[in-house]
Amino acid sequence: MTGTEQTQHEMTFRGIAASAGIVWGPAYIFQKQTPVISEKSVTAGDLDAEIQRLRSAVDRSRKELAKIYEFAKQKLGDHQAKIFEAQLMILEDLVLFEAIVKRILAEQKNAEYIVHDEIEKYRKVMVAANDEYTRERALDVEDVRNRILRNLRDEKLISRLDGSPVIVAPNLAAADALILSRNTILAYVTEVGGVTSHMALLARALKIPAVVGLRQFTSAVHNGDRILVDGYGGIVVVNPSPETVKAYEEKRERYREFEERLAGLRDLPAETPDGRRVELSANVELAEELEFIKLQGADGIGLYRSESLLLGREVFPNEDEQYREYRMLVDTMYPKRVVIRTFDIGGDKFMTSQTSRENNPFLGWRGIRVMLDRPEIFLEQLRAILRVSDRRTVSIMFPMISNIKELRRAKELIEDAKGQLRSRGVAFDDKVRIGTMIEVPAAAVIVEDLAREVDFISIGTNDLIQYLLAVDRGNDIVSGLYQEFHPAVVRFLRRIIERGRESKVHVAMCGEMAGDPLATILLLGLGLDEFSVVPKVLPEIKKIIRTVKYRDAKKIAKKALKMVTEDEMKNYLADVMKEYSPDIPRE
Ligand code: PEP
Ligand code: MG
Repeated sequence: MTGTEQTQHEMTFRGIAASAGIVWGPAYIFQKQTPVISEKSVTAGDLDAEIQRLRSAVDRSRKELAKIYEFAKQKLGDHQAKIFEAQLMILEDLVLFEAIVKRILAEQKNAEYIVHDEIEKYRKVMVAANDEYTRERALDVEDVRNRILRNLRDEKLISRLDGSPVIVAPNLAAADALILSRNTILAYVTEVGGVTSHMALLARALKIPAVVGLRQFTSAVHNGDRILVDGYGGIVVVNPSPETVKAYEEKRERYREFEERLAGLRDLPAETPDGRRVELSANVELAEELEFIKLQGADGIGLYRSESLLLGREVFPNEDEQYREYRMLVDTMYPKRVVIRTFDIGGDKFMTSQTSRENNPFLGWRGIRVMLDRPEIFLEQLRAILRVSDRRTVSIMFPMISNIKELRRAKELIEDAKGQLRSRGVAFDDKVRIGTMIEVPAAAVIVEDLAREVDFISIGTNDLIQYLLAVDRGNDIVSGLYQEFHPAVVRFLRRIIERGRESKVHVAMCGEMAGDPLATILLLGLGLDEFSVVPKVLPEIKKIIRTVKYRDAKKIAKKALKMVTEDEMKNYLADVMKEYSPDIPRE
């Protein structure tokens, strides 16, 4: 493409955020020519020379890669440089090399043709693989192949660029991304690749913003077009208007300030000074929150309310539609884990098509009850979730379980969904973690029985409190009676956590109480393993956890359990907070 043609109007594209940051500048289309390979015959007398030509091309490729490997080690450290070690291993694969030599001799064909054909066989198998990880590694194989082909033709690679461009490419091998980073690169934008592609890992390590997975993007831009890249949100704007630039400038500033404040905390674990490590994860409803969550330093997503996909819709999204949403969620969070809760509809969460209202919706057809009555819809969702479990970071959680029969039936349906995927040849994690919410008092009472059936439990205090105290969570007339620190609630929580831990399951909490700073020390002391909270409060909760010893938290919880009124408990916990975290602002 030439540099003269310019696209004028603003166009916005949405891809996958692969490396954080907001920048804008001219586009540079980096399009490596796909080598056109022609099949040529080699006479018997020239075969030795042909093999010699192959040997020196492989040799040169090896030297190039070794240099890149060294450069990567210097710039990124040993760990990140391993990417190139793997490519070097392909080049050093004697079996592959011998197979190529044998074929040149037997078929009397040119080295380019045989190299291409032989490596293409591997690449095709990888591209057709069920798991995305192998598919992404196919790019590395392709890169090695193209490197040998280029060297067979004595062609040089472009690595010097003028100015500070945004690199736009159909796909970018990790080696190219690294070599190009010797220039001042503003960002990378590619059409293919996921967040775990080596190029994405590299961009993050180099702290260069990147957006990947922007299908057809290279045909929508021209060299020199001004483009804006938002590596937080996975957005790319071509020819941004001054207003757009201004809005993103503000966003960048907001993130900068925010990042500065949290910089010290983000990469630190949620661990007490005496070494009790808990998980601190985030509750998510909308995909737009993901960028924020990653910034907050969450250990993962402890609750994804999948029913947010349904609100305002007339019909359930089909398996593929759901798959796309879940895939984006899981890929964006990778390698952190994601708990996807199956649809929790009913109660206060209606689809527009649900016309017959019940007298007591919170006690009615809600959550797992709806899904068990609609197995076809449930199976569709379970298949979509299982399909994104291929990276072993996904857990499935059921809402509103009130007896063991429901849990067993739901698990049977997971097995049915697995069977259906198996017969379609689709990959999934056979050991996908399964959990149940504990949000109905009956479930809390039989928690040890439920725990035997699952890998984890997650306490939903929002519902648990309303059912335990008989107070509608959404009714302002009785809102004063909705008390997180009611002694009955706290004692009930102690029971659930204790029994859960005795049953050797991971005990999480994803109700709002997990994100109430006043409750943090108490919950920590009760032995909670995971706090899943609204993203906004995450740093604050982490800060509290990092200031109080587990030993002390246990004593505090013990004392709190003796309180007989909510006020007493709150006052006590507020005093404790003042002592341990005086700098946490209180409302
Ligand atoms: C809960 O009940 O605590 C919970 C997390 O679920 P939801 O708020 O979605 O009902
Ligand atoms: Mg609930």
